[in-house]
Amino acid sequence: MKTEIITIGDELLNGSRTDTNAAYLALHLSALGAEISRMTSVGDGQPAIEEALREALSCAELVVVTGGLGPTADDRTKQALARIFGCDLVLDEEALETVSASFARRGAGVPESNAAQCMIPECARPIENKVGSAPGLLMEREGRLLFALPGVPAEMRGIFENYIAPFLEGRGLVRSKEERIIRVLHLAESEIADRVHGIARRLARVEVAYLPHADGVDLKITGRGESRVQAARAADRAQERIADLLGDAVYARGNESIERVVGYLLSMQGKTLAVAESCTGGRVAWQLTRTPGSSEYFAGGIVAYSNDLKKRILHVKAATLKTHGAVSAEVAGEMATGVKDRAKTDYGLSITGVAGPGGGSSEKPVGLVYVALARKGKTVVWRLLLGRGRDRVRRRAAVAALDLVRRDLLSLPLSEPPAASSVVPKTGEGAA
Ligand code: ATP
Ligand code: MG
Repeated sequence: MKTEIITIGDELLNGSRTDTNAAYLALHLSALGAEISRMTSVGDGQPAIEEALREALSCAELVVVTGGLGPTADDRTKQALARIFGCDLVLDEEALETVSASFARRGAGVPESNAAQCMIPECARPIENKVGSAPGLLMEREGRLLFALPGVPAEMRGIFENYIAPFLEGRGLVRSKEERIIRVLHLAESEIADRVHGIARRLARVEVAYLPHADGVDLKITGRGESRVQAARAADRAQERIADLLGDAVYARGNESIERVVGYLLSMQGKTLAVAESCTGGRVAWQLTRTPGSSEYFAGGIVAYSNDLKKRILHVKAATLKTHGAVSAEVAGEMATGVKDRAKTDYGLSITGVAGPGGGSSEKPVGLVYVALARKGKTVVWRLLLGRGRDRVRRRAAVAALDLVRRDLLSLPLSEPPAASSVVPKTGEGAA
């Protein structure tokens, strides 16, 4: 159902108040399947309010307005509504009773301005406001619905939850909507879209959105239906088919982070991990320890930034450093084995690379990162080209390293590139 949101208040236009009402309404109305076609903010002036209302009512089937319902002279929404709907303002006895009772409890009479709050357009139905005193309003004309709500966010939310959402669902005006997430690594948005496009178009009642972020791409799958169950069924089916299509590039079905997935797999298999980090400076350790209970599988990490520390603590050989340089598959491998042996864990994971902006060369450009995973009898090294931007390189390196662990724990192929052209894994039996 085509829906417009109008928020009213000078404070929204001069920036002294952030429009949280519009964001709340957009989120919750679209969660109900309403299609938000426009959001407008206007000041407290009655002509501007009238214009916005007229415009919205000419386009949308549902209009939700917040603000300007209160008792003060700058609250003009009801006057504007009365004019547009062609009716008078009359006293809402019930609202006056509620307000009187509330003032009586404090031993006071109702101030004139609060009595004015109980004047509503004659053609409006008042909606009880359990949090404050100004009632909300429901108005209908030619099949179009308009809700006017107080500007105070808690009052607006209360009326939305207690009245509007059940009202729309009860009338069968909104379709239910269910969302599912698929999280993907190593594939660019365009590559994913190429693969998924055909199926996504054929799936009924489903929309797919691609949401790239610093670590990878999330696919948001929205299923719609006449009921929650129907919407969930459509979303689940789409999630399964799309995830199958993307194969092992999918690291989570849901909002799970890569470190949580790795943590879960480690603890399920009773395995332990230690990390040796150079260019990520402890980022992998930080990510892993964000999960409560990670001590069960994560022994700890060493940030070995200097060659000296790589030698002394991780036992990387001086000859290896000299021959291949700190950013090399060989050093990554020795760092991983070194940390595994020092920490006595099942896995050792290492990262060494050129995060930039300086320090790159034609042979070892900025963005070149080696991640290595060592376990008993085997070391796997990936050579990655992660682009530019120090933070981005460090972030992507940490995620790729964690993904290497995930792949090993799931017995996925490690010698194959995980689809991205920039990822060239290299396997070496007992390389260290
Ligand atoms: P009241 O009965 O309090 O006068 P009202 O319906 O007249 O309610 P306003 O006077 O417009 O509403 O706003 C009341 C309070 O809510 C103010 O503090 C205002 O800044 C805040 N508010 C109004 N609109 C919004 C909005 N869209 N987002 C966030 N806060 C808002
Ligand atoms: Mg007000």
